[in-house]
Amino acid sequence: MITIALSKGRIFKETLPALEAANISCNEDPESSRKLILKTNRPDVRLLIVRASDVPTYVECGGADLGIAGKDVLDEFSSNNLFQLADLKIAKCKMMVAGPKNFDYEKAINQKERLKVATKYTKISKDFFSKKGIHIDLIKLYGSMELAPLVEMSDLIVDLVSSGKTLEANNLVPYEKISDISSQLIVNKASMRLKFKELQPIIDQLKK
Ligand code: ATP
Ligand code: MG
Repeated sequence: MITIALSKGRIFKETLPALEAANISCNEDPESSRKLILKTNRPDVRLLIVRASDVPTYVECGGADLGIAGKDVLDEFSSNNLFQLADLKIAKCKMMVAGPKNFDYEKAINQKERLKVATKYTKISKDFFSKKGIHIDLIKLYGSMELAPLVEMSDLIVDLVSSGKTLEANNLVPYEKISDISSQLIVNKASMRLKFKELQPIIDQLKK
């Protein structure tokens, strides 16, 4: 049995065509189904529907052989029990530093001011600002980061941005890009050794 972990929403939607190219199709819709394990047309392949940030854990711990996870999730998760096999180039967006229009970000950086950063991505934020020699006070949030600077809880946020509409709707502007984000194909190290023959054709198709 080959088990593939992925999250519902945009990753599931954008992965389906790639899976179909690998002759794996799924008739169940994870948005409406309450099932967490979805059957496919192939008796030897099943899909696990998990939280986006849980995908690397399922793959690392062997709950799934393969996984599809955003680079944001992988950058935030430190692991040595999985391999990153390919950039699937789907669910593209950017990891950005953003904040209020009237905040002089460049000046704050040049003067090495201490900054309050609200984010779900604490590791990514620490790595990014420490490279610049900037001290940050982190405020860990689990969603709607845009709110924090509006209520003066933080100077800025670190979050994913695609169209920029959410920032705009909340009077925030992007200051600086941290990295480009897209979904990656990951594999459990032991599966790669033990199930290489079965996995190889699926991996090759997904890479395309
Ligand atoms: P949850 O909603 O369960 O807390 P999440 O917010 O991380 O998790 P999604 O919003 O579905 O889940 O995002 C899943 C993945 O899709 C992210 O990890 C990221 O790689 C990618 N993603 C997130 N936002 C965007 C976006 N605006 N445009 C494109 N891709 C995105
Ligand atoms: Mg979400």
